[in-house]
Amino acid sequence: MIEIDGSQGEGGGQILRSSLTLAMVTGQAVRLTRIRAGRKKPGLMRAHLTAVTAASEICNAQIYGTAIGSRELTFQPGEVSSGDYSFRIGTAGSTSLILQTVLPALLCADGPSTLRIEGGTHNPMAPPFEFLQRTYLPLVNQLGPQVAAQLVRPGFFPVGKGQIEVTVSPSPTLEPLNLTKRGELVERRAQALLALLNENIGRRECRTLTSELDWPEDVAEVTVVKNSAGPGNALICDLQFENLTEVLVEFDEPGKRAERVASQLARQVKRYLDSDAPVGQHLADQLLLPLAIGAAQSTGGGVFRTLNLTDHSKTHIEVIQRFLAVDVSVTETAPDDVLIEVRSR
Ligand code: ATP
Repeated sequence: MIEIDGSQGEGGGQILRSSLTLAMVTGQAVRLTRIRAGRKKPGLMRAHLTAVTAASEICNAQIYGTAIGSRELTFQPGEVSSGDYSFRIGTAGSTSLILQTVLPALLCADGPSTLRIEGGTHNPMAPPFEFLQRTYLPLVNQLGPQVAAQLVRPGFFPVGKGQIEVTVSPSPTLEPLNLTKRGELVERRAQALLALLNENIGRRECRTLTSELDWPEDVAEVTVVKNSAGPGNALICDLQFENLTEVLVEFDEPGKRAERVASQLARQVKRYLDSDAPVGQHLADQLLLPLAIGAAQSTGGGVFRTLNLTDHSKTHIEVIQRFLAVDVSVTETAPDDVLIEVRSR
């Protein structure tokens, strides 16, 4: 039984989710203590609990300690089964994070799968649907399996009620990834996504963003979403390079002016463009898991360049190495330029 201290490093939900993923993939039982001790409301929240039940349904696990607020959990995985799955978070908790918990196990499963997940699709502090679809999944597909995601209905915080549908065609093993260069910039565009809010908010965001980045005005546009259950606004920027597309996002919050949302996104975009490392900070912590699983199979792994490593990534590396015999080397070559290599040990 692997023991994981949920208070280590970042002390958040990712330690739990990645431990579930790694238990599913390796068949090793895990006991988690002090779950999310680094957060204001520690323990399992509704969305974390959904991750636990989704993981357990897919690998027929025995679980002990699954109650809201629970700080300890034991997860004894069985065999992973591909199939047709539906999961409902019941709050605006992130559908992307549920998908990322169970997807690695389905990438190399015995057959294709479909997943329908209901909850939030555009949440602050989680991968928005566009990031999942245009940044993360195309890179997962380079590892061999083919995964496609569709936004059925957007779900913004706090109402949620969004839905994504995902199909997975597995491959027996994962290939390596080499992502040390972005390649040429192919396209840049921005979108102010608005549901049940005044369109003028989106127009102000687009104007401020293009002016702060010194981009032509027609690079940014307002998209009004018709089928959202609740109001929401996200300002999303796509930077499409030859070797990957980076999706950056800022969210509107009560009391936050449209101009501030746009300025914050402009700062993120400038920082990314000022470095020439291809992998952004969020993508870095999310790529580690599929690369490490491939490395442990001795078929995959790989190397990528990223901006400065976040606490999420550092903690993630520690958790991964508790389950898998892989080496993850981190070499800082310049500020905001870090080389990560993931190899089998
Ligand atoms: P908590 O324990 O704080 O409730 P959580 O369960 O939401 O946290 P975290 O441990 O904070 O989970 O992990 C959030 C994940 O979402 C990380 O993988 C992070 O990289 C990713 N993420 C956050 N913001 C973005 C973003 N704007 N774009 C892409 N990914 C993001």
